[in-house]
Amino acid sequence: MARKFFVGGNFKMNGTKESIKAIIKNLNEAQLDPNVEVVIAPSHLYLPIAVDAVTASTVSVAAQNVYAKPNGAHTGEVSVSQLKDLGLKWTITGHSERRAGGESDEDVANKTKAAIDGGLSVIWCCGESLEEREAGNTVAVVEKQLAALAAKVTGDDWKKIVIAYEPIWAIGTGKVATTEQAQEVHAAIRKWLKANVSDAVADETRILYGGSVSAKNSKELAKQADIDGFLVGGASLKPEFVDIINSNQ
Ligand code: PEP
Repeated sequence: MARKFFVGGNFKMNGTKESIKAIIKNLNEAQLDPNVEVVIAPSHLYLPIAVDAVTASTVSVAAQNVYAKPNGAHTGEVSVSQLKDLGLKWTITGHSERRAGGESDEDVANKTKAAIDGGLSVIWCCGESLEEREAGNTVAVVEKQLAALAAKVTGDDWKKIVIAYEPIWAIGTGKVATTEQAQEVHAAIRKWLKANVSDAVADETRILYGGSVSAKNSKELAKQADIDGFLVGGASLKPEFVDIINSNQ
C-alpha cells in the first residue's frame, strides 16, 4: 500500500500571535504538493489562532502534547476533549524534549491511547540518545519504546498513529542522521511492527524522520524506502518549510 507522504512542523515554544499567523499565511499561499499531508504544531496558546488561520486544504493543526486523563484537577494540563473542542485532529506525543522532562515510555503510551480513544490521531515520537547510539543500543532503545506503545494500543488504533523517529542527538543540533543511519532505523521499526503487530500495520504505518531536517537534506532523505516524511522543528518556522513539504516531488 502506498503511504501518503507526511510532513509535521513542531513549532515548540516559539512564536507570537503575529509570527504564527505569518507562517500559516505563507503555507496558505504556497504551492504545496497536494499529495503531502501537512500538520503544524504551535504551542497550546496559539492553537485557536492556528485553526482559524489555516485555509490550505492539506494542512491541519496538532497539539504538541496532551494529558492522559479526561478532565479534572490537573493544573496546567490540556485534555483530549479540549483539543477536539477546538477542532483539532492531531497531537504529538512522546517528543524527546518531553521524555527528557520525565515522561516514561508508559506515560507516552498512555497519552497516545487516550488521544486515540478520544478521536485524535497521533504523531508518536521515539529515538535514542548519543550515548545509546554509541553503545550500539539504538534499535534496542527504539524497540523498547515501541513495545511500551504496543502494550496499550490495539487493532485499528495503529491507523491513527504516525511514528516519528527522532535521534535525540540530531534534534536542534544541525547534526542530521545520514540517509543510511535514518533508513536503517526506519527499516528496523518496520521489521519490529511486522514481527510484533501485523504485516498490515508494518506496511501502512508512516514513519517520519526528525532531526535537523532542512531544505538542503530533505530531498535525499525522502528518497529512502522507509522514510515516509519528516517531523521538522527549527526549519518549520522558516519559509524553507515549503521546500521540505515539497521534497518528495
Ligand atoms: C523536533 O523538534 O521534532 C525536531 C526534529 O527539531 P529540529 O528539526 O529543529 O532538529
